[in-house]
Amino acid sequence: MVKAIYPGTFDPITNGHLDILSRAALLFEEVQVVVAVNVRKNTLFSLSERLELIRDCTLHLPNVHVSSFEGLTVDCLRRFGAEVVIRGLRAVSDFEYEFQMALMNKKLDPGCETVYLMPSEQYTYLNSSVIREIAALGGSVSEFVPHAVEAKLRKKLGAPHAPIQTVVPPKGRAKLPKKTKPRAKKS
Ligand code: ADP
Repeated sequence: MVKAIYPGTFDPITNGHLDILSRAALLFEEVQVVVAVNVRKNTLFSLSERLELIRDCTLHLPNVHVSSFEGLTVDCLRRFGAEVVIRGLRAVSDFEYEFQMALMNKKLDPGCETVYLMPSEQYTYLNSSVIREIAALGGSVSEFVPHAVEAKLRKKLGAPHAPIQTVVPPKGRAKLPKKTKPRAKKS
């Protein structure tokens, strides 16, 4: 029975994160979602908001727990008595950074194993920053994030805009109203 941690920023949690979490919950005895406390990163959601959203969205996964951590991933692993770090792998572009992190963590702690999970194809182009950007520009993100996250984004950034309507001018020359001669004033 192996325990795992799933570290990340989760600003905010998306359906892609949830896809990875549901897979991990089936594979491991316990999964601890660890929200990184990174003072250098400017996040849209505060730490407590991110924790609350993740808790709300993972109620259906009884072996998933949520907490925060400041410091090295390998120290976090030991604190939770876990052996595995879970990360999501969406595209080749993720690989280089993830490869470096996994090797460095292994160097810092030879007992640290990193397991990569691939989400369903529909989530491979999804990340939190794209969600924040779409929401900030007034687009709808209901397909990409859980309901609670969408509501919180709306509260912070405003409601999505109605689709922009293009006004097509009528064919041919628009007829101008006929000029009427000003009537001479009767004296
Ligand atoms: P970080 O700042 O650590 O990258 P994120 O919240 O962006 O934090 O991501 C946490 C983890 O979740 C990373 O392993 C990332 O690859 C993974 N992840 C993020 N979005 C998705 C997605 N749409 N599908 C699969 N994995 C994802």
